[in-house]
Amino acid sequence: MIKTRFAPSPTGVLHVGGARTALFCWLYSKKMKGKFVLRIEDTDLERSTPESVQAILDAMQWLGLDYDEGPYYQTQRFEHYRKAIAQLLEQGDAYYCQCSRERLEDLREQQMKDKQKPRYDGCCRELGLGPQAGSSMVVRFRNPQQGMVSFKDHVKGAVSVDNRELDDLIIERSDGSPTYNLSVVVDDMEMDITHVLRGDDHVNNTPRQVNILRALGATVPEYAHVPMILGDDGKRLSKRHGAVGVMEYFEAGYLPEAMLNYLVRLGWSHGDQEIFTRDEMIELFSLDGLNKSASSFNTEKLNWINQQYLMRAPLDSIVGLVEQRLLRLQIDHSGVLDFASVVDLYRQRVSTINELVDSILYYFQDFNDYDAKAAAKVLKASALRPLQCLHERLTLLDSWTADDIHALIEAITVELDVGMGKVGQPLRVAVTGGSFSPPIDQTLELLGKERSLARLERAIDHISEKQEQ
Ligand code: GLU
Repeated sequence: MIKTRFAPSPTGVLHVGGARTALFCWLYSKKMKGKFVLRIEDTDLERSTPESVQAILDAMQWLGLDYDEGPYYQTQRFEHYRKAIAQLLEQGDAYYCQCSRERLEDLREQQMKDKQKPRYDGCCRELGLGPQAGSSMVVRFRNPQQGMVSFKDHVKGAVSVDNRELDDLIIERSDGSPTYNLSVVVDDMEMDITHVLRGDDHVNNTPRQVNILRALGATVPEYAHVPMILGDDGKRLSKRHGAVGVMEYFEAGYLPEAMLNYLVRLGWSHGDQEIFTRDEMIELFSLDGLNKSASSFNTEKLNWINQQYLMRAPLDSIVGLVEQRLLRLQIDHSGVLDFASVVDLYRQRVSTINELVDSILYYFQDFNDYDAKAAAKVLKASALRPLQCLHERLTLLDSWTADDIHALIEAITVELDVGMGKVGQPLRVAVTGGSFSPPIDQTLELLGKERSLARLERAIDHISEKQEQ
């Protein structure tokens, strides 16, 4: 059975890149009917925080990336790492090293001066040192000095590295804590991970990890090191490019399905297809489809995908999300009779839930000010007559339906001998405060008679006051 794992370090929020890795691991496990493990790599005690752990769990939950095992916490597994280190020492595959920080720094400086790659020179490798109470020794892995180390990578192909390129890395620090490469290896081994999918910033660690795995007698998993995500300027995606934490997209009103769809396409493709349901993603996902080159984050595309999902999702679910946001903003929308229709009318026109909420606020809140540009352009003396006419006729209109409102507006244009724009635009700015809205007759129907008339009065007053000045 195949088994994947997502192994974030809880030193901050879950980034877009991490979420994509998690998604790939999750997809592959689902596709292969295997298992997906969540492992929190919290051994860096200074940088790991409970808030970051929670942030990761929240993001996984929002995206619906459920795991079959875990979350495991590396800080609760120190015993396992100690045992593995003891085994390696016992076998002669690891050794104590007493080199001081100063010595290592001098060595490094000298190597840099000589234009050599900085590496440990194996000073303590053959000294046969034992543990000494109270000393600050570290334990190093005895990396093979000959031959090649190879592994299968589904993105990069077969990778082979000459062992002479690798030095003896520290696996236990002087305070007794295991280093990243050791704990990862022990966990991947003990958790029976068959496929390691992770960012290619780890690819240089892999030959070292493979050597340790071999020394421990473990089966070496298959790997897929996925290329990084770039910002739209071609540089590595970072805070400078805007939101990077996945939950910022939740806050901004994106749908989790759209986010997943966007993330899967950011590093994987299946022909030209852009929109994938969760089930489709599972069915079609394959490691072969992983892109070999870095992908660029593109907010416009994310917006487009989100819009597709806003339009296609069941209306109920969108209404629910809009209501949640209104609740958070403490805005009461109970006065709107047909709230679902308002949401439906607008979801075709916006990219996010937040945008949707912003564009329908005028249904339940009187706006403070008109959009300055729209008011200057449209709410002027020439609009007074059409607005007065509208107010008069609409007051008398008994059947408040889009069709009847439409007919009434048309009749006024004929009567005043003006184009639709001369009546419709002032009306739009009067009732919505701005110059963009769905068809005005539908807007009025959903806004209701009382509110529509009150806003017409307000606009008439606005123009009259302006004229008096
Ligand atoms: N904890 C590592 C990280 O967050 C990932 C380790 C791995 O996937 O092997 O970068």
